[in-house]
Amino acid sequence: MQEFKTIEVTTDLLIIGPGMAGAGACVEGAHWARENNVKITVVDKAAMERSGAVGMGLSAINQYQGENSPVDYLSYVRQDLMGLCRDDLVMDISRHVNGTVHMFEKFGLPIWTDPDGNYVHEGRWQLMINGESYKAIVAEAGKNAVGMDNIIERVFIARLLLDKNDKNRVAGAIGFSVRDPEIYVFKFKACIVSAGGAVHVFKPRSTGEGLGRAWYPPWNAGSSSYLTTTAGAEMTSQEVVFIPGRFKDGYGPVGAWFLLFKASATSATGFNYMAEGLAEGGELHNWPPYGEVKPIPTCLRNHLMMIEMYQKGDGPIFIHTDKAIAKIAEKAPDEKAYKKEIKKLEAEAWEDFLDMTISQAVLWAAKDVFPEEGPSEIMPSEPYFIGSHSGASGAWTSGPEDIQTDASRNEYFWGYNRMTTVKGLFAAGDGVGVSSHKFSSGSFTEGRIAAKAAVKYCVDNPERPEFDEAVVDSLKEQILLPLSHYEKHKAYTTLGTTDKKYDLPVEEVNPNYITPKMAIFRLNKIMDEYVAGWGTQYTCSAITLNIALDHLKMLKKDLSKLAARNLHELMRCWENIHRVQIAEAHTRHKLYREETRWPGYYYRSDFKRMDEDKWGKVFVNSVYDADKDEFTMLTRPIIHQVEIKE
Ligand code: FAD
Repeated sequence: MQEFKTIEVTTDLLIIGPGMAGAGACVEGAHWARENNVKITVVDKAAMERSGAVGMGLSAINQYQGENSPVDYLSYVRQDLMGLCRDDLVMDISRHVNGTVHMFEKFGLPIWTDPDGNYVHEGRWQLMINGESYKAIVAEAGKNAVGMDNIIERVFIARLLLDKNDKNRVAGAIGFSVRDPEIYVFKFKACIVSAGGAVHVFKPRSTGEGLGRAWYPPWNAGSSSYLTTTAGAEMTSQEVVFIPGRFKDGYGPVGAWFLLFKASATSATGFNYMAEGLAEGGELHNWPPYGEVKPIPTCLRNHLMMIEMYQKGDGPIFIHTDKAIAKIAEKAPDEKAYKKEIKKLEAEAWEDFLDMTISQAVLWAAKDVFPEEGPSEIMPSEPYFIGSHSGASGAWTSGPEDIQTDASRNEYFWGYNRMTTVKGLFAAGDGVGVSSHKFSSGSFTEGRIAAKAAVKYCVDNPERPEFDEAVVDSLKEQILLPLSHYEKHKAYTTLGTTDKKYDLPVEEVNPNYITPKMAIFRLNKIMDEYVAGWGTQYTCSAITLNIALDHLKMLKKDLSKLAARNLHELMRCWENIHRVQIAEAHTRHKLYREETRWPGYYYRSDFKRMDEDKWGKVFVNSVYDADKDEFTMLTRPIIHQVEIKE
C-alpha cells in the first residue's frame, strides 16, 4: 500500500461542506471573522463550484418570503410536517431569507421577472430562476469571501475529534484526500457541519444501466448526521424521511407543472384523487387537522397517490401536462397567438428540466414524449434524508435567543444559535433538524446564522482545545483499513478470471472482503425490505424494524471487511460507513415513535393512525455513545412560541 502523508491544518473555524449552507457560512462568516481576527477554513469532498444538491442546478428558489410574514411561513411549515417543527428555527430563517435572495441576485443569479419587473412566482413562496449555474454563482461569492487559499477541495471528512479534556467539546476533524495519498487532520475551535443529507440509504427504484439514478443527486451520503451523531450530539426526528413524487424514472420536478401551469394528476382510471380526497368524507378527513387544511401536506399528497397505486391497483398516476398547457394557451386571442403561446409554454417546460434535472429531458427526448400532446407518469420515489426540504432529520440545535419564551428558553436555547449539544459544534442546512422547508435559500440563510454565532463562539473561547494523538493514530488506521484490507486479500479473488465453459469474465467474489458496491446493496436491501422502502410499499412494524436492527448490527460488524482498490473506492467505503449510521438511527427513531404520523412517507402497520395526544406533542431525539455503540432514545416537548391565528 502507498505511503500516506499527514497534512495538519490549524484554523479557528472549519466549515465542513460548502454546499448551500456552507456557502452562506462562508459569505457571512468571512465578514465577522475579518472584524474579529478569526481564521476560517473550508473543506469539501468535491469541488465547491458544483458540490452538493444544487450542483446540477435548480429551476426555482423555494423559499422567498416576499411580503409574507415569518408567521405565515411558520404556519405553512407546521402544517406540512403534520405539526412537527421548531418555531424558533423556522422563524429565524424566514425573517432573513429575503435578504439572502437579494444577495443571490447581486451575485448574478438570473431570477425571472414579469414585464413590470416583479419576480415571477412559481407558487406563494417560490421564485422561478434560470438556475443551471445556481451553485457556481453562489459558490463564487463564498470563495471570494473566504479566499481560495482557505478552501481545501476533494477531502472527505471521516470523523470529528473531541477535546481530550472535555468530551463534550469538539476540537478537530480527520479526513482523507480523494485524489492524493494524504490524510488531513484539522485543529480548530469550532466547526460548522453542513455536509448535506443522505441518498442511497434505501434501495433506489433505478436498476441496471439506470442504477444510481435517484431524485437526490448521489453525492451526499449522510455525513452531516454521521459526524454530529458520532461526536455525541443530540439528534432529532431521524425518523422523518422525504419521498418526492416526481416524473417517473427521470425524477424531473413537478413544482412548475402543479404550481405554475396548474396541471392536475389522476389515477390511470381518471380519478382525481386530490379533489376527491378533499371532498366531504374523503380520505384527507381521516388525518385531522392537517388533512383538512390547505396546502395539503406533502406526505398526504403522496398518501393519496399510494392508495390509488397500491390499495386500489389503479396506477400509474398521470400528470396531465397536455391539458394544463392547452388551458393556459386557450386564453390567446387568435390561432396564431395560441400556437405562439403553446411554443412558449413548451419551451418553459423543457427549460424547467434542463435547469435542474437534465436526465429527465433526455428521457423525454428518448421516449418521444411531447408534454403538449399527452400526459406523463409520476411516481413516489425511494426515501431520502433531507432535513432542509420536506423531511426533518438532523441535529438538535440551540435557537435564537430573542424568539424564546419562558416555556422554551430552557429547552431550545443554550447560548449560540445553531450550536448542537456539543460545544463548538454547529450545524446548518440538512445538518439541522426540525427546521424544514428552508430549501436552497433558507439553507444559505441558516449557514449565515450559524457562521455569525460560530465566530462569536471562537472569540468567546480563545483557548484552543486539544485532542488525543493516540485517537488520531487509531483513526488514521481505521480510515485506511479498506485499502490495506484489499492489498492483503486481493490475490484471493475471482476477479480477472474467465468462466471457461462460456468464455465470460467472472463476477468478483472474495471470501475475505466486501466491495463498497456490495455493502451498499446489502444496506439497501435491509432498508427496503424491513424499514419501509418502496419494495414494501413504505410499510414497517416493530417486528420488521427489529429484524432490520439485527441485520444492521451484522452489517456494521462487517464494515471492517470493506475493501478499496483506490482512493475513489476508499471514499465509497466511507460513504457507506456514514450511511449505515444514519440507517440505524432512522430505524431506532421509527421504532420509538409508535404511530403513523406521515402516511405517504411511511406506515407503521402496528400503529396505523396518528396519535396526536401522545406523539403530536413531542420530538423524538437520540444520543449516541460511540465508545459503547449505544443509542439512548428520548423525547423533547414541542413548544409553540408563536400563536397562529386560523
Ligand atoms: P448541500 O447543498 O447538498 O451541500 C452539502 C455539501 O457537503 C457539499 O459541498 C458536499 O460536497 C459536502 N460534503 C458532503 N459530505 C462531505 C464530507 N464527508 N466531507 C466533506 N464535504 C462533504 N431547493 C430550492 O430552493 N429549490 C428547488 O427547486 C430545489 N430542488 C431540489 C431538488 C433536489 C433533487 C434536491 C436534492 C434538493 C432540492 N432543493 C431545492 C433543496 C436544496 O438543494 C437543499 O435544501 C440545499 O442544497 C441544502 O443545503 P446543504 O448545504 O445542507 O447541503
